[in-house]
Amino acid sequence: MEDSPTGSFEGLGLLPALVEAARGRGYGAPTPIQRDAIPPLLAGRDVIGAAQTGSGKTAAFALPLLQGVQKDPRTIQVLVLVPTRELSAQVASEFRKLGRGLHGLKVVELTGGTPAKPQRESLARGAHVAVGTPGRIEDHLERGSLDPSHIQSVVLDEADRMLDMGFGPDVRRVLGYLRRDRQTALFSATFPEAIESMVADVLRDPVAVEGDSGQDAEPDIEERYQVTGRNRFPALCAVLAHCPHESAIVFCNLKATVSEVTGSLVAAGVRADRLDGDLDQFHRDQVLSRFRGGSLSILVATDVAARGIDIDALDLVVNYELPPKPDGYVHRIGRTGRAGKSGLAVSLATRVELDGLGAFEQATGRRMSPLLPEDHPHYSAPPKNPGALLAQIREAAPMETILISGGRKDKVRPGDIVGALTGEAGGLRGDALGKIEVRDTISYVAVQRDFARRAVEALNKGRIKGKKYRATLTGSTINGPQKWTPHRG
Ligand code: AMP
Repeated sequence: MEDSPTGSFEGLGLLPALVEAARGRGYGAPTPIQRDAIPPLLAGRDVIGAAQTGSGKTAAFALPLLQGVQKDPRTIQVLVLVPTRELSAQVASEFRKLGRGLHGLKVVELTGGTPAKPQRESLARGAHVAVGTPGRIEDHLERGSLDPSHIQSVVLDEADRMLDMGFGPDVRRVLGYLRRDRQTALFSATFPEAIESMVADVLRDPVAVEGDSGQDAEPDIEERYQVTGRNRFPALCAVLAHCPHESAIVFCNLKATVSEVTGSLVAAGVRADRLDGDLDQFHRDQVLSRFRGGSLSILVATDVAARGIDIDALDLVVNYELPPKPDGYVHRIGRTGRAGKSGLAVSLATRVELDGLGAFEQATGRRMSPLLPEDHPHYSAPPKNPGALLAQIREAAPMETILISGGRKDKVRPGDIVGALTGEAGGLRGDALGKIEVRDTISYVAVQRDFARRAVEALNKGRIKGKKYRATLTGSTINGPQKWTPHRG
């Protein structure tokens, strides 16, 4: 459909000034997400977009929403919520560039970790579009410096990342300030349950659009087996070294095995920890937080302990021991291959156990093949030096997780932690920070390993919202849980 009217920006119904600006940016034709999202957004519909950075999603919402902006009175009419200051800067810049033909257009940035006063002054002078992080936007709404009554469209950009960073409650509170008849657009690269429930709660009859085609929601799990001797650890090492992974879960049938395997992995320098019935609630939560934040690459778990854990990005599941029943097998391997990603499940089996794999194949309707080709040195004989194999995967987890002695009840919010660590106060760049999880009385922040010590120092020296808190690096639970005495200043 070469000359279909939607092959051009004009054909999408955009005003000449906006088409001109898109051309000025060097955009020849709309990208798929722009082609699909612009018409419904122009028509005032809610939109849910599955799109990654690089799909052209920013212009996909900026162009149509700019078209609806009234120059007078100069009030905020479009609000964009983003997870980070960097993204805020990019989105604001795109709005300014695409809006250059709309004379007098003002775009303000409302991000945490920067002084609020100049933001309040910009708002008081008047602006049309506000872009920022949820915590700071909520502050402005709370203080009355941001008037929500004229906001006709709100965008939740990189919604999955916002939830990952713990902004979910802030986002919901911000939405609570807005008019009910507003237009809402949500863009996200992945759609875990938390996003789906947000979509169900905040969007009205949304049009779904997709940035990249060809992604199906069917789980895509490759199932393999690896022959092992009676001592399974060398075979595990061969599997871990052979299968590149960022986050893996290793299932054992008994918690004693979990401790043993975790201990051996940790002793070899691998970033692993355990999830078993002996872990108290606090440390269980901490291990999961470290895993989600990229401070651990491997979780060793029993079935019971792994039940209901909130993790979607597993790329490898290893059955250290075969589960007793086929439905246990289906359950374990279903932990990978989620959210449109492909996954790999490898089961260790002794020669005697190989026959039993047939029951698993029947349960899934798929065949299992050996992981390694027959002529591979580790096809059936365990590697002689498993430690050397593990050396390859030691660096797999790039982050460290810091525990902070303040949480929701102290009114600590993700943006406050970002603020304390970046900018003049902390000296870190925003991109050195990862996932932030704020709990009732504590918080976790993931920081790139090289900056972790500096971050701990900055947090212990500085203040969060004027208050002192204690920060420590979290570590492995395998040598006995760390002592933690919350100390508040
Ligand atoms: P985004 O996904 O919004 O982060 O955009 C990714 C990049 O694609 C940015 O550098 C945009 O400037 C660029 N871009 C957006 N729309 C188009 C388009 N229609 N044609 C070419 N490049 C585009």
